[in-house]
Formats: sequence, C-alpha cells, structure tokens
Amino acid sequence: MTIHHHPPEDLLAAFAAGLLDLGQHVAIATHLVGCPRCRDTVRTMEHVGGALLTGLPPTAMSGDALAMIKARLDGIVPAVASPPRRATGLSDVPGLPKFVREYPAGPWKWIAPKVHMRPIELPEASETRVFLLKSRPGTKMIEHTHTGFEMSCVLSGSFVHAGGHFGPGDFDLGDGADDHEIMIDSADDCICLIAMQGDLKLNGMIGRLLQPLIRM
Ligand SMILES: [Zn+2]
Repeated sequence: MTIHHHPPEDLLAAFAAGLLDLGQHVAIATHLVGCPRCRDTVRTMEHVGGALLTGLPPTAMSGDALAMIKARLDGIVPAVASPPRRATGLSDVPGLPKFVREYPAGPWKWIAPKVHMRPIELPEASETRVFLLKSRPGTKMIEHTHTGFEMSCVLSGSFVHAGGHFGPGDFDLGDGADDHEIMIDSADDCICLIAMQGDLKLNGMIGRLLQPLIRM
C-alpha cells in the first residue's frame, strides 16, 4: 500500500498533544495504523513534548501532599463496570483497523443514488460524528461544500477530485473552503471512514433538488 496523502502536520500535532475530540482522534488513528511515516512524525512530536515537560523547572509540593495521596489510595475504589459488548458486524469491512471494529455500528443506510452510510457509535460524546461511506464504482458525487470539516480515510477502492487521486490508506481533509466534485474510479466499491462536523451543502440545481434527501 503506497500512501500519497497524509493529514496536515498541525492535525498530527493536535493528535500527539491529545487535543482532538474522539471523532477526530479515531480518523487520525485510522490513518496512523496504516502509515509508518505519520507514526514516526507523531512519535517525534510526543518526544519533543515530553522533553519540554522534563525541562520545566521543578515545583515544590505542599507538605501534606504524600498524606493526601495515601488518604485517596485508602478510600473505597468503586468498580468500573465494563460496557456490555455487542456484535458490531464491522468485521466484514475491508481495511478497517481492529480498534474501530470494537465500536457498535448501525446498519447500512441509503443516502443518495449508489451511496450508503453506516454510523459508528462512539463510546463518549463527540462533536465530530464518525461513519462509513460506501460508494459504488462510477459514482459521481455532486459538487458540494462543507459547513464544517470532513476527514476521509480511504479503506478500500479509490476516488479522484481536483486535489488528486486517493486510494487505500490515503487521508483527505475537506473544509468549508472546498468546492469539489468526487468521482469513484475503482472497479470495486470505495469505502471510507469519515469524521465530520457540520453538514454537506450541495451546489447547483440538481444539488438543491437532492439536498432534502441527503441525510448524513
Ligand atoms: Zn501518513
């Protein structure tokens, strides 16, 4: 697998610093599973962050700090119930990292001609929603813009737009400034993991006619 499109460095830095919400984190982590180059970048960023922390001047602790920690350790530690496990049915999705397969997922839903989506339920609230998007070969997505951002991780198949050609492992970031038409150019279905905030805004007459039908 040759990866040509990577997340921008500011997103990798935000990932390394733990600043992303869970939906964004899942998308970047999905890319990292398949991309040694970005894994190296993140590791370097984490080392730099760690070196900065250890370089900080030491701060004196209060005299009763140790006693307070002991008191906490002596307190009753409530058992943390692990969430009930459900079959996710995501095992049939090619290229999906193992950690995403652990999340529950809804059924495939029709959202537009030749395009289906499948929501992924995250274990905690996130402003960014995550779902799988499956498009049939030859699908031409109508020109659209985003009211928020959209991160796409290609799991299988491929698509092309003005920004280049995107195949398995590639990462595409769309934001409100984008105005693009996407064509699925693989012989098989193209399946992407998408992390998205905001909504899609379809352009043109057909887009305006279809807009009420599109639910993502
Ligand atoms: Zn990468």
